[in-house]
Amino acid sequence: MKIMAVNAGSSSLKFQLLDMPEENVVTSGIVERIGMKNAVFTIKVNGEKHSQTHDVSDHAVAAKLVLEKLVDMNIVDDYDDITGVGHRVVHGGESFSDSVVINETVLEAIKEVSDLAPLHNPANLTGIQAFQEVLPDVPMVAVFDTAFHQTMKEDAFLYATPYEWYEKYGVRKYGFHGTSHKYVSERVAKMLDRDIETLKTIVLHIGNGASICAVDGGKSVDTSMGFTPLSGIAMGTRSGDIDPAIVEFISTKENKTVQQVINDLNKSSGYLGVSRISSDSRDLWEAYDKGNPRGVLAIRKQAKMIADYIGAYYVYMGGVDAIVFTAGIGENAPETRELITKRLGVLNAKLDAEANKKRGVETILSTPDSGVTLLLIPTNEEVMIARDTVRLMNE
Ligand code: AMP
Repeated sequence: MKIMAVNAGSSSLKFQLLDMPEENVVTSGIVERIGMKNAVFTIKVNGEKHSQTHDVSDHAVAAKLVLEKLVDMNIVDDYDDITGVGHRVVHGGESFSDSVVINETVLEAIKEVSDLAPLHNPANLTGIQAFQEVLPDVPMVAVFDTAFHQTMKEDAFLYATPYEWYEKYGVRKYGFHGTSHKYVSERVAKMLDRDIETLKTIVLHIGNGASICAVDGGKSVDTSMGFTPLSGIAMGTRSGDIDPAIVEFISTKENKTVQQVINDLNKSSGYLGVSRISSDSRDLWEAYDKGNPRGVLAIRKQAKMIADYIGAYYVYMGGVDAIVFTAGIGENAPETRELITKRLGVLNAKLDAEANKKRGVETILSTPDSGVTLLLIPTNEEVMIARDTVRLMNE
């Protein structure tokens, strides 16, 4: 059966069509610049990319365009070939601890938590409605970035802020990248041929956005992103954890509103902010290799923040069996993996230099005598979306 995994942003619609249960990717693509006259439709078939520009006024037009192209290119016979659609939804608040079949009540609940993710949830909803318009009889499932972290206990998810903020406004840690953390931690059990119930894993999802997750017995027990994706380790352009008093201090010094300072923390901080070179690890490593002091600083800052979280989660879980590198940097930057591992001497972590040359393929990175197993596991959020869609359609 063919399942579509959809990730709708404010002006884009990413899709992947999978054959299930085989989990083969049939095709994938994206419509970008939705709402503009020269929207770009890109599709990848048999490893080859095809791009065209179209007038795409809204997400419903984009969804229709995607489906028409699939038929035109003989990828599906007709719309009936698509058995289910899974939608990535960023925020499920406390309402969703698992994926869910979409109905009116679910749509209302997603709307209700939209003030927690004002940039993302409305776009995700638009994507759902667009596909519902074109495929009214096809079951749709919502897969939440936050759901996997709903197993965190109160001591992990609650901030030490007035308790009423939590009760009245839902101020707490939600965590993100849950679909990735879940996928990766399940793969660890498979790769090591271990019962997931007995495994303590720390997943390092390090891409342009980045978060770390402590997974004990297959359940998220703590994660570095919080109320929003701004907290935790530093990222490409996001600051990660800082003293919140800085917000008021800078707003006074630079005569900026709170929103403007938060925007600076989201868009011009992180590795870009520290280095003033780039947000991209490839550029930073180039600068590092040339001895550029700010490039060196950004790279060191990254390794320190990540190692600090590993230390905290090691203590919180009372041990760790596996540490996993995933996402753009984790999967592709052996130098970053090496630098982080060097900071884990206390765990007796040892990288196998030959294995660490690998990029983008599942690999055991540690030596047999390492105190902790180090793994490279490419993440796959789309397959998780498709799996959940099939599971819930069958329930
Ligand atoms: P993601 O957000 O997971 O797609 O990750 C994107 C980021 O991965 C980019 O901004 C780069 O910093 C990083 N990245 C991608 N390829 C490489 C590479 N070959 N070496 C180092 N970093 C990379």
